[in-house]
Amino acid sequence: MGLFSEMLDEKRIKDGFKDSGHVLMITCPGCACESLSYTEGLPCRALESGKDMEESAVAVQRVRDQWDRVLKEDGKKVTHISVAFPCEMFDTERERILEKLQDADTIALLCCSSGYVAVKDMLPDFLGRFVPMMKTTGTFVFKLVLDESGKNSKVEQETARVIKFSKVNQG
Ligand code: SF4
Repeated sequence: MGLFSEMLDEKRIKDGFKDSGHVLMITCPGCACESLSYTEGLPCRALESGKDMEESAVAVQRVRDQWDRVLKEDGKKVTHISVAFPCEMFDTERERILEKLQDADTIALLCCSSGYVAVKDMLPDFLGRFVPMMKTTGTFVFKLVLDESGKNSKVEQETARVIKFSKVNQG
């Protein structure tokens, strides 16, 4: 893991939801979480959750909850599911997504581009829309440190290394 993804422009994401009635938001607690900790200045993982990726993914949960509020204020029904990890799912994960889909007319992906493609590919007959919320632009090497509360990790901004895909082959 270590794909670097950034939030897409807020207006673009909002436009994607324009005609939505029920949005199913699929979130990945993997490297999307480190990416959001870095780009949004959020805590990364709750230390008390140990190695439980889904429970510990504070940055992803915070961004998910922000969008949950925005969409609900706009009168939409919002449901969500955390999938670890959409880029390498077992059938059991696909089944969880199918069960959660119900009457959703929109699937929003808070994860990297691999996760977006993986979910889109598993639902070729879905008649609704897919809304990517992040774009993947590189890889990262991050140093994690404690946040101010001492309860979470966060990405140390000063030492963060983001290697954009455009630079990867240039050494
Ligand atoms: S789906 Fe993307 S963000 Fe999630 S673990 Fe896989 S590579 Fe990382």
